[in-house]
Amino acid sequence: MARVSQGKIYLSDSSGRMLASGSGFRLQPRSGRLLKLDGVSYRGALEVFINPVKKPVIVNDLDLETYLRGVVPNELSPTAYPHLQAIKAQTVAARTFALSNLGLNARKGFDLYSDSRSQTYRGRRSEQTLSDRAVKETRGMVAVYRKKPIVAFYSSTCGGLTASYHDMFQRPEISYLRGGAKCPDQDSPHRNWKSRISVTDVQQALDRLGIGRLKKLVPMRKSRQGRIVEMKFVGSKGEKVLKGLKIRSALKLRSNWITDLNTRKNKSKYIREIRAEGRGWGHGVGLCQMGTVKLAERGWKFERILKHYYSGIEMDRRW
Ligand SMILES: [Zn+2]
Repeated sequence: MARVSQGKIYLSDSSGRMLASGSGFRLQPRSGRLLKLDGVSYRGALEVFINPVKKPVIVNDLDLETYLRGVVPNELSPTAYPHLQAIKAQTVAARTFALSNLGLNARKGFDLYSDSRSQTYRGRRSEQTLSDRAVKETRGMVAVYRKKPIVAFYSSTCGGLTASYHDMFQRPEISYLRGGAKCPDQDSPHRNWKSRISVTDVQQALDRLGIGRLKKLVPMRKSRQGRIVEMKFVGSKGEKVLKGLKIRSALKLRSNWITDLNTRKNKSKYIREIRAEGRGWGHGVGLCQMGTVKLAERGWKFERILKHYYSGIEMDRRW
């Protein structure tokens, strides 16, 4: 167990006996053994330390291929979607995503978060036979653009047409993430959605806009692929235009692809409920996981699937 107090870490064993104290430790398992943290086994070493921004962190230090074994099944379940080519496409996307992210969190003392801020990693217990096979058979393979590993964004269900990175993230265009790839994800349970959102459920996000009580939502601009990328929020104390994914998170929607938007108001003309219909789940940028499964079912190989969603890329074997 690790306890942190006043910038120092105190390590104790399971019986509570103090082992050591200091600003950081590296725990290396004996050969063939695994370290456990909160009941979960991890391959590789664990590092417990105070990072450069003075926060305590626990980092699992392991090689990229082993890391992928604990990531891929969380990102695309081989149990629910037992298609080797789909799992391989997901594996190459996850490997490439990890590689392009190395060093980005150096200030915090690690490369990748273990949740959706990077990719969901849960150690040894996530590993499955089919995904282990996909990792092994694609060892070292990454998607590259002009010889550099791509920023391999992926999401659950694009809704039929992939989105542009520029529109969703409001960042400069990336050529292989321009969007517009046609996608056969029709049978996904998230292809079409309907939501009723009570304004009280999204009040916190609305409060941060500082516009008072919500009176009106005005969609202002749609992307070429049909997603709402600018929406004006009009309130009792002012108005604000939100762009890209900020619209989705403010209203807790499954995607920016809103096909129908209605509001219900109370007696004082403030919105009390938002009713929306739309398509897809996630940002819709890059590889579409449900579409990937469909294409694999049609007999597409993983390289072809990746080239479909990331236009103009090449495959490269790095190790
Ligand atoms: Zn799709």
